[in-house]
Amino acid sequence: MLNLVLFGPPGAGKGTQSERIRDHYGLIHLSTGDIFRANIKGETELGKEAKSYIDKGELVPDSLTIKLLESEVDKHQDANGFIFDGFPRTVHQAEALDKFLARKQTEVTKMVALEVEEEELIKRLLARGKESGRADDQNEGIIRNRIEEYQKKTAPLKDYYRNQDKFESIDGVGEIDEITNRLYHAIEKK
Ligand code: ADP
Repeated sequence: MLNLVLFGPPGAGKGTQSERIRDHYGLIHLSTGDIFRANIKGETELGKEAKSYIDKGELVPDSLTIKLLESEVDKHQDANGFIFDGFPRTVHQAEALDKFLARKQTEVTKMVALEVEEEELIKRLLARGKESGRADDQNEGIIRNRIEEYQKKTAPLKDYYRNQDKFESIDGVGEIDEITNRLYHAIEKK
């Protein structure tokens, strides 16, 4: 199996690039943000609980997120592999993913980080908010809080994967096609 973690701060382009990687390698794309938003739209219990955190730009608690991710992976028993977009976001989530994949006799192949500096992220997210109407993209305070959560809780995962020799980092600024090619190159690097 090819199991990829696409990593980066809010607005780094994970969603766009994940779709391309999914199609190129024939993977299942799992975006925790998309799953939470679908649940919010459908007014499920999970959606109601997640919404209270997402609206403030905070991470949804690990217990809820890990359970959700595991049940999504279990829906795809015949998959060639997965692209995880927006998961793991804490060390606890990364440890849970390792254990869960080990039980399935597989593992994370590589984690690829998209690097984009903060002011560019804020510009991109505010533009996306105008187009999509996503509430957490329309308020600069909430956006800054998400970036702060990323720096505090998610960025340490780079060392987690570096210690396993699975970490690759690429420049996330440039033409979309050019970034996709950088990603393919990083994924296929031995
Ligand atoms: P972005 O990467 O632009 O922040 P996402 O759609 O990935 O957008 O995430 C939106 C929100 O969903 C996050 O701000 C967070 O509240 C919640 N979320 C998504 N994935 C996770 C996760 N793995 N752990 C905790 N919260 C998450």
